[in-house]
Amino acid sequence: MDKLEELEIKKQMCEIGRRIYNRGMVAANDGNISVKLSDHEILCTPTGVSKGFMTPEYICKVDENGNVLEANPGFKPSSEIKMHLRVYKKRKDVRSVVHAHPLYATTFAIVGKPLFQPIMPEAVISLGNVPIAKYGRPSTDEIPNAIEEYLDYYDALLLENHGALTYSDSLNNAYMKLESLEFYAQILYQSIMLGGPQEFTNKQVEDLYDIRKKLGFNGKHPGNYSVEERKKIKYYNNVDKEIK
Ligand SMILES: [Zn+2]
Repeated sequence: MDKLEELEIKKQMCEIGRRIYNRGMVAANDGNISVKLSDHEILCTPTGVSKGFMTPEYICKVDENGNVLEANPGFKPSSEIKMHLRVYKKRKDVRSVVHAHPLYATTFAIVGKPLFQPIMPEAVISLGNVPIAKYGRPSTDEIPNAIEEYLDYYDALLLENHGALTYSDSLNNAYMKLESLEFYAQILYQSIMLGGPQEFTNKQVEDLYDIRKKLGFNGKHPGNYSVEERKKIKYYNNVDKEIK
């Protein structure tokens, strides 16, 4: 990739950082974004800066093992880069990873409730269910290890007592999944406040999964698997409950 293309991607990362910050999906210096340029080059946001006020020279570059390839003076790659690298290692289709602390999604992650109620077509089609990966201490291997078992089945995860993680074949698509996840969490929260949502039946869920197949969505999703296979997918980290 030439330098001009790379600069364009850095600018996009700054723009997505602004959107995440302006939508209140992070506070202060929280959150991180990465984009895979090649098997050995990954651009990532730096630690300790607000993602709402970045310019391209803030963006760092690491290799697939997290070694720093490029970083301007005063900037160090995100302390959560290991989580991003694990996604790239396990999901060869993924080109971008976004991590933030959106208010409603993070609230569910903090009370330990995965998003499993099928209540709106968009969320069922684009995300399926959203499980919670077990709590891990920041910057250790605990979070990468906790997310691993979900990576084959989902493109959006909650991180227990922490936040949310989405990933996709492009930066824009990874960010869109974050917005979809947060909107789903917000609607679910509000419908619980109003006495509980009307949930889709199993048949309605299957019909939506069929629509997803017909639309040819890429990425991972419980609907990519048969009902029997789906029973093996772990949906919850702390609740032993039959899946829909
Ligand atoms: Zn975080």
